[in-house]
Amino acid sequence: MEKIWLTNKITGVLKQRDPVFRRVVVTEILSIINDMKRRFSRGANRAEALHKVQDEKTTEAITKHLMVLSCKAGCNNCCHQPVILSNDEMDLIESKVDLSTLDKIKMEKQRDFTEDDWKHRPKSETACVFLKDNACSIYDVRPATCRACVYTGDPEHCLPSVGKSSILLEAEVVASATNNISEPDLIPVKILKRLMSKAESL
Ligand code: SF4
Ligand code: SF4
Repeated sequence: MEKIWLTNKITGVLKQRDPVFRRVVVTEILSIINDMKRRFSRGANRAEALHKVQDEKTTEAITKHLMVLSCKAGCNNCCHQPVILSNDEMDLIESKVDLSTLDKIKMEKQRDFTEDDWKHRPKSETACVFLKDNACSIYDVRPATCRACVYTGDPEHCLPSVGKSSILLEAEVVASATNNISEPDLIPVKILKRLMSKAESL
């Protein structure tokens, strides 16, 4: 079977399931990737299309599973962990945000964080560079990995030091497809690389 990039949560689920289930999930991811590649060239439009598919599938699944989410405005423990972003999503965010205004010192620190750093450093240091006044400042264009973060339990479980938050497979499938399409990397790494390549092209 073709080797593809999977979110950590899907990887964890697939390890516990049989080969038939694994094949179904991977086939679904490949089908989304192929459809998107056929319909769009690389860039912000493709990221937007994937986010739309993901939001629709997430809403459908929440309704189907009768989930009552704990997620609400101001709840942001899930914004203190390493988050993956694709190139297409980088293009989309860059079309809305001046990257040079972001906290470069914080991103340089986060770029070198170990798993332990993410779990144990103060929240001020692990907060995503887009988290402003306890809310996502790029909510409409936030990455697929963030869109997949939904939880029905205690929000404290969503901190990396606890790491118990649940998985919504339907949302993780699209997040995996999004990142397979265009070079996934951590938010601070991706932004610092983009800033560097812009500086070099001046
Ligand atoms: S995923 Fe967890 S921390 Fe994030 S908004 Fe939902 S309940 Fe809150
Ligand atoms: S992009 Fe937004 S939702 Fe995602 S981690 Fe950063 S602040 Fe949170």
